[in-house]
Parts: sequence; structure tokens; C-alpha cells
Amino acid sequence: MEVSIVGAGLVGCLLACFLARRGHEVTLYERRPDPRLSGAERGRSINLAISERGIDALRRLGLAEEALSDAIPMPGRMMHAVDGTLTFQSYSSDQRHAINSISRGALNGKLLDAAEASDGVRVRFGHRLTGIGDGTLEFEGGIVEKGQQVVIGADGAYSAVRARLQQMPGTDFSQEYLDYGYKELTIPPKLGEFAFDPGALHIWPRGRSMMIALPNPDRSFTCTLFWPHDALAALDTPEKVRAHFGKEYPDAAEVMPHLASDYAGNPVGHLVTMRCDPWYRTLNGTLVGLIGDAAHAIVPFYGQGANCGFQDCVELDRCLDETGDDFARALELFQRRKADTDVIARLALDNFVEMRDKVGSRAFLAQKRVEHALERVLPGRYVSRYELVSFSTTPYAEVERRVARQRRWAGAAAAGLLIAGAVAWKRSR
Ligand SMILES: Cc1cc2nc3c(=O)[nH]c(=O)nc-3n(C[C@H](O)[C@H](O)[C@H](O)COP(=O)(O)OP(=O)(O)OC[C@H]3O[C@@H](n4cnc5c(N)ncnc54)[C@H](O)[C@@H]3O)c2cc1C
Repeated sequence: MEVSIVGAGLVGCLLACFLARRGHEVTLYERRPDPRLSGAERGRSINLAISERGIDALRRLGLAEEALSDAIPMPGRMMHAVDGTLTFQSYSSDQRHAINSISRGALNGKLLDAAEASDGVRVRFGHRLTGIGDGTLEFEGGIVEKGQQVVIGADGAYSAVRARLQQMPGTDFSQEYLDYGYKELTIPPKLGEFAFDPGALHIWPRGRSMMIALPNPDRSFTCTLFWPHDALAALDTPEKVRAHFGKEYPDAAEVMPHLASDYAGNPVGHLVTMRCDPWYRTLNGTLVGLIGDAAHAIVPFYGQGANCGFQDCVELDRCLDETGDDFARALELFQRRKADTDVIARLALDNFVEMRDKVGSRAFLAQKRVEHALERVLPGRYVSRYELVSFSTTPYAEVERRVARQRRWAGAAAAGLLIAGAVAWKRSR
């Protein structure tokens, strides 16, 4: 088939590789100029955490090694208290497990290279989709591409493809913004070295708000503030910025020489959950589908948006296997993935409260120690939610079913132990 993919971001490029491997002719349309030549776009997160779901998708195409060549493993999180106390907490009871800090621009560049190197893939930069007509794709500047059989929107949270589907009766859509924005700042290398331990995702939990930092290969850290919009706007002079950071994030402020100018110059991003149903329609004979953030943008607090989009590609590839490359039936089947993406959308929202408020507390750390102890005592029988989400490819909805079963079972075991203890105590008297 001839397939058009709109959006040559992370998911669009990976999908192009999967479809090309099946022998389809793919054209990738991207609104930006080639980012390998023009550099990263402002306002996108500079780095991201890639974990097992994303790596599994890359591995299936033989791309994992190259894509992860500059990645920095982060086996745990490091909490920074206001008084400078540091607390490390492993993500897994298995010391080999880590999430990986990776540059978005570098990953996108490598996936573009892989897509362009695949037989049957053409990439068209500078093509911003503005409409879908009668078997046509319409782009800014009056460009029209005719004879469209299959169009897949991989054009991100503010998808133009999805906007067209939303105009059709029967398409449900919702968007839910948090009252929070995000802003990126930089901690440059300190005397040529990382200013903090690069083997961790750093978190400054401050109750209502937080800052995180991920390491980069050039020994800098990219920090992201997740603050209420009013708090972000309130720091409107360099003095206020420095005073606030000196009070709330003193250890970071010390190693941020460009703090005030970065703060004033860097944009504020929005945090949104988008839901759409269904993800496919037929438009005047053209099959139109959605994938990645275009189908289900989620907030970034579980580090799963791109991982989930990569796993979408594996699932769509599986649906094409199951239907003998009948795209109409495959896109219909692919809708089963929504049960999973609804779950991760909810978990990502819940995890915000955990990250900004709970991770610093003794109760939270004790609970994680108990979870890891249970994982070691009952290997394969008790597995924490974080472990299943980040270090397995278990479908997200199945993760939730399994966690619920484990909770029931652990509750029954605890009740059994209490009763046995009470009986033993009574007998001993
Ligand atoms: C602050 C932040 C931190 C994050 N951290 C993580 C993380 O740690 N781990 C993780 O897995 N995920 C993370 N994510 C989520 C991740 O960035 C997204 O889930 C991922 O980028 C989605 O990929 P995509 O290809 O679907 O969409 P995008 O990356 O948005 O790509 C869409 C592409 O489509 C192009 N496009 C848009 N409109 C048009 C148009 N009209 N015509 C043609 N082209 C168009 C865009 O230019 C872009 O290239 C984070 C997100 C944010 C905001």
C-alpha cells in the first residue's frame, strides 16, 4: 500500500521503519525543516527517559544499540531536600534495571536516518498539513498531494489529522490541561564534570511543585520545573528568580550560573491529556488513523509518552500481521490499544502527586523498600507497578489487573498473618 504518515517526530519515523519492513511505500510529511540541519525546536523537552517498552520497539528493528549509544542509565531517583540532604532510591530491586536519559534531538535524528535508509520511504520536510480533502492532503503554501489511500497522523498532541477527524460526527474528543506549566533550565558541567551524580534522575519535591533534572552526554543536566502557572509567572525579575531558587533549591541554584537569564528566556510549556475515540475513520475513501501523541497525549510524569508511542508501532505492526496487511481491519483492531493508553494516561496523572509530594517522605521510602523486599522474596510472583510499567512490555491495562490481584493477595496474606498471630498469642496465655 501507499501510506502517508503526517509528522516525522519520534513515533512517525519509527512507524515508517515498521511499515517499510512490511514492503509498503511510505511518505513522511513533516512541517519543520530537517531538524538534523536546523537544530532542535524551542519549547520541546530536550531529553527524555526511554525504558523497556521503547527499547523493545527499537530492538525489533535492530535500532536499539545505535539509538541508545549516547544514553545515560539512571537506575534510581535522587531526592534533594531543601537542607541539601540527598536520598537515593532505586527504581527496581534488580540492580541491572535503569531508565535511560536520551537527547530527543539525537534520537529523532537517528530515527530519521533509519527511516530514510529504509527501502520505500520518502521524507518531505517543510510540509505542514492544513487539511484532508477528497483523497487529498493539503499543505501550507497550497501544496496538494492526491490519491491518498492510507493516512496516519503521527503529528503530536495538537494533531491536524485528529482535528479533521474531530469534525466528523461520532468522534469523541477531550482535552484536560493541568494548572501547571513546565520550563526547562540548564545545569552546566562544573569544572568539566557533572555537577550531580549522573546515575540518577534528580528530583526536588516541594509539595505543590517540583523540579527534576536528567543528565546529558555533554555533562550538563536539563532541569524541568513543573510549577503552577501563577508561580511561574510570579518570578518576573532576576532578583525574584535568584531569591526563590536560593530558598527552595539552594544546591541547584549554586550550580546554575545562567539561572535568571534562562528563566526569563525559556518558554513555558503546557501539560495536557488528550483523548480521542475512535482513532480511525474513512474519509471519502481514504483510511485515516492516529498513533502516538496524536491519538493519546499524556502528561510526562511516568516518563512513558514516547515509550507508549513506540509500543503503539509494535501493536499496529502486530495488527497488520493479524489481518494480512488489510489496513482497514488493522486500524479497527488497533483500537484495542486504547484500553492500555487510557490506563497510562491515568497513571501519569497520579504519578505527579507521588513525584512532587510523596517521594521525599519516610513513609514512601519505607513502602518502596517493602515492595523491593517482596520482589526479592517472591520473584516473578510479586512485581511492583513501577517495575511492570518501566521494565516490562506487559500491556498497561494488564499491569493494572495484575497490581489489583497482587494487592488482594497481599491483603489476604496480611490478614492471615494477623489472625495466625492472634491465635498463637491466645494459646500462649
Ligand atoms: C516535558 C516533557 C517531558 C517528557 N518526557 C518524556 C520521557 O521522559 N519519556 C517519554 O517516553 N516521553 C516523554 N515525554 C513525552 C514525549 O515527548 C511524547 O510522548 C513523544 O514526543 C510523542 O511522539 P510523537 O511522535 O507522537 O509526537 P511529537 O514528538 O510531538 O512529533 C510530532 C511531529 O509532527 C510534526 N507535526 C506537527 N503538526 C504537523 C502538521 N500539521 N503537519 C506536518 N507535521 C506536523 C511535528 O513537527 C513533530 O515532528 C515528555 C513530554 C514532555 C512535554
